[in-house]
Amino acid sequence: MSSDEQDWTEQRGRMVKDQLKRRHIQDQAVLQAMATVPRERFVPRRYQNAAYADSPLPLPAGQTISQPYIVAYMLQSLQLEPHFKVLEVGTGSGYAAAILSYLVRQVFTIEWHAQLVAYAERRFLDLQLHNVHVRQGDGTLGWPEEAPFEAILVSAGGPEVPPNLRQQLTIGGRLVIPVGVESHQQELFCVIRDTETRWSRRNLGPVAFVPLRGEQGWDRNKVHGH
Ligand code: SAH
Repeated sequence: MSSDEQDWTEQRGRMVKDQLKRRHIQDQAVLQAMATVPRERFVPRRYQNAAYADSPLPLPAGQTISQPYIVAYMLQSLQLEPHFKVLEVGTGSGYAAAILSYLVRQVFTIEWHAQLVAYAERRFLDLQLHNVHVRQGDGTLGWPEEAPFEAILVSAGGPEVPPNLRQQLTIGGRLVIPVGVESHQQELFCVIRDTETRWSRRNLGPVAFVPLRGEQGWDRNKVHGH
């Protein structure tokens, strides 16, 4: 291992200990995945020195890569199992999808901005994460050809839980999503599909995510055409 690599490994280990374990992230698989994925590779070069800081960081197209603790908290709340097929809405840098690739069988992730799709795709290739599938589009509509999913992770905040996403859960499936009436301030919800026609939800606390675009996000009332 080069001394640079060793330095990143040390920083990553410290992040897991100080930011995750100390704040009661207990899921061993999540801790292990976060100790493995090189976050420094997902952060834009100019912010690389802050890759393991306890905060979100800027991405191209005015977006952000989430704070490590929030990623871990959302993933732990999904109660993932290795055989799961998971949908992520809001690929961004690809960091959360890369963590997911270590935790479950298949990851499908949708990103609104083509520029970020290319950004994330390059990293999945470099790291040889062959179980991650990424496409450009409106993630609020889900990925019907691959549904249903045992878990869905939404990494941007919407005005409501998109109905399509609820419908693309398996029975017993879980969906974690920031929901709020303001575009940059939300409550994190865990929605569980109890039966074919019934869903329950738990509030996991206040969060601040970038807005969820799209037909079942903040663009829902936009008049198209004239
Ligand atoms: N999980 C990402 C965090 C990305 S921030 C990471 O680990 O880096 C949220 C992302 O959601 C942004 O890139 C934004 O462009 C994207 N987004 C917002 N609305 C979307 C939609 N309707 N469909 C797909 N992606 C969306």
